[in-house]
Amino acid sequence: MVGRWLEGMAYVSSRTASLAAPVYPYASAWTFRPDVWAERTRHAHARQHQTVSRGRWNVVSLQCAAFALPGGTRPVDLKSGHPYWLVKNGLLHAFPRLVEEVRCDVLIVGAGITGALIGDHLARAGLQVCVIDRREAGWGSTAASTALLQYEIDTELQDLAERYGIDDAVLAYRSCLQAIGSLRRLTRNLRGIDFQPMQSLYFASRWYHQRRIEREGALRRAHGFKLEILQRAALQQRFGIDSGAGLLTPVAAETDPYQLAHRLLGRIEARGGRVHARTALERFTPVRGGVHVETDGGVSIRCQQLVFAAGYEAQRWIDQSVASNRSSYAFVSEPLPGLLGPLDKTLVWESARPYLYLRRTADDRLLVGGEDDHVDIPMRRDALVERRAETLRRRVLALFPALPLKVAFAWAGTFAETADGLPFFGPHEQHGPRVHFALAYGGNGITYSLIGAELLRDRFLGKSHPCTALFGFPRLKRKAGRSG
Ligand SMILES: Cc1cc2nc3c(=O)[nH]c(=O)nc-3n(C[C@H](O)[C@H](O)[C@H](O)COP(=O)(O)OP(=O)(O)OC[C@H]3O[C@@H](n4cnc5c(N)ncnc54)[C@H](O)[C@@H]3O)c2cc1C
Repeated sequence: MVGRWLEGMAYVSSRTASLAAPVYPYASAWTFRPDVWAERTRHAHARQHQTVSRGRWNVVSLQCAAFALPGGTRPVDLKSGHPYWLVKNGLLHAFPRLVEEVRCDVLIVGAGITGALIGDHLARAGLQVCVIDRREAGWGSTAASTALLQYEIDTELQDLAERYGIDDAVLAYRSCLQAIGSLRRLTRNLRGIDFQPMQSLYFASRWYHQRRIEREGALRRAHGFKLEILQRAALQQRFGIDSGAGLLTPVAAETDPYQLAHRLLGRIEARGGRVHARTALERFTPVRGGVHVETDGGVSIRCQQLVFAAGYEAQRWIDQSVASNRSSYAFVSEPLPGLLGPLDKTLVWESARPYLYLRRTADDRLLVGGEDDHVDIPMRRDALVERRAETLRRRVLALFPALPLKVAFAWAGTFAETADGLPFFGPHEQHGPRVHFALAYGGNGITYSLIGAELLRDRFLGKSHPCTALFGFPRLKRKAGRSG
């Protein structure tokens, strides 16, 4: 360990501050602090630097990461600032820490929205479920989510079709469409959840995106998706947006993901399942007929199936690089009762990447996100929260100049993207058939989480699910451009 540390120090100090500083604010010859680096980065970041930076910087980052990896499972710093759901709800329920040995059918690592949805689906299917989380429930990325629920994937249907063929592209879109309906039905049975059906407007924010948007609309329509293709006059008249083209889809929604996760976790307990906060998986070993897990408190768990619903931290358990981490910024405005106009019923997002996105909240605020960084460096993210919120505010005002928009709470969070915008659900060959991953990565992560919950439930019940192949790790071996 010391050797690696010295190697890293020597490597970094041989670079000049001017070379190192622009990329890694705490990796310059003068300011480099290995203890800070070790605390604030970790395996996930090392992997992300690996994919983002190449050449000389890659070497620097890997050398630094080498001594940031003591082999334990210390948490990644997932969020900055004041995520609104935590401010609004507080700690909804303190689930107990796990202190005794447990046997269960399925152990789920992660009590965010993904783990909560999976656990709820499995418990309702009659399986004995145990959910553990190293933090408080919902305290990971779920608390930072802006929670626009859309069937539209960050990768447009036309791009997905080019990559995997039209059948699989439509399958992905249609599954997301159905997932919005499933989420709606699910929340109907959970009283008091902030869940609001909405429409979604995707508009061309660059003049040269206009034709692309129109082609996208035509392709979706040809495959049975209901939507309106709006031209400039209609966009101006109905939304006051100055853009050459937009797609208005009637199926979308918004929710409070932290509240929803808590309510689902409560329902798992009510069905006889277990939920434990402040309990981290430290190590696991696939054994005959199941998986043996040890927690940070030295407690053993024996399960037949293990599911990592550990959000962006789950990447540390897979050696293969499957996604890149980014930072996304958000703010919620002071309440704007009666002033939101068409935004009261419409989620809005743009065609540029990274994109600006907006929605209302149940208490009449405007929730705005975007300004993503290509890399996720927690210290840098902490420092940028207020400035990025102001940039986002100005960008919204450029679209809707009459809104008296004031930032109430601003925050940022880690956010992971796969190369094709699709998630991963299922086992990875590295750990065998009983260790499953639920990586609901991408802009519509929550929609994916619902699909993942259905897919894993079907898998454990011995049923097939249409998305198993497309949303599984084996797709990484597929050649782009081929269907099937
Ligand atoms: C700023 C921002 C905006 C977003 N906007 C949207 C949006 O508009 N729409 C949308 O659909 N999605 C959005 N997303 C994505 C969405 O928030 C995520 O897909 C979702 O929250 C991920 O939930 P999760 O349960 O998978 O992860 P998390 O909420 O991070 O939960 C994983 C849990 O696993 C726990 N854990 C990790 N390691 C261990 C371990 N070893 N032992 C025990 N527990 C462990 C963590 O403590 C954590 O609580 C956004 C994300 C961000 C950051």
